[in-house]
Amino acid sequence: MPTRLLYLDDSQLTEADATILKVHHDEGGTTVVLNETIFYPQGGGQPTDRGRLTTDQGVLDIRRVSFADGEVLHTGAAEGVLAESAVARLEVDAALRHQHALLHTGGHLVMTAVDRLVGYRPTKGYHFPNGPYVEFDRALPVEERESFAAKVQETMDAMVSEDTEVTSYFCEPEELRANGVYVPTEIPAGKPTRVVVTAGYRSPCGGTHVRRLGELFGLRVRGVKVKSGRTRVSYLVG
Ligand SMILES: [Zn+2]
Repeated sequence: MPTRLLYLDDSQLTEADATILKVHHDEGGTTVVLNETIFYPQGGGQPTDRGRLTTDQGVLDIRRVSFADGEVLHTGAAEGVLAESAVARLEVDAALRHQHALLHTGGHLVMTAVDRLVGYRPTKGYHFPNGPYVEFDRALPVEERESFAAKVQETMDAMVSEDTEVTSYFCEPEELRANGVYVPTEIPAGKPTRVVVTAGYRSPCGGTHVRRLGELFGLRVRGVKVKSGRTRVSYLVG
């Protein structure tokens, strides 16, 4: 049975209850599958959540969360007994989640600014703390390279000060393509896709986000690099 992904509906949820469906022990630790989860599994350029799962009889210190065949695997070090069918209290490390959501939403804002300025499409997003960046499908002309970082910064600053809400909705990938929204090819056809909207810019995304763009007041462009026909904008969140 696929794990229900509660974080898709509410990125701010850091505590909830769920039922344990499967428990597996091996040399890598203990892995628990739940009927539903608030833990974000590493993917889409966003790092794994961490936290704790507690039942009447045991605790799992969750260090790594991953996604496999529709199931979310919560892996870590267990103490006591974690039994199938037991109800577990889930607690996401809220500070880490917030940092990841800031970094990730910062990537959306970079995409939004670049779309407004030159209309390039993102081909890769890396939203980890050690050097986040977004890569785009075209090479910036030589004469624009020097001034581009400042233009992106200025565009992002304006959106941050407008402080609009980050919203999302579900729809079909075909509908998005028909509306001219760039959809990566790896999204399986016929599956509902979640679209995240930042300052009017729509992007298919399954990650976690901050509520409002005003939270990104520390967002800075670190640099712009052009290589092999692509433009990379690196950034940091203060
Ligand atoms: Zn996202």
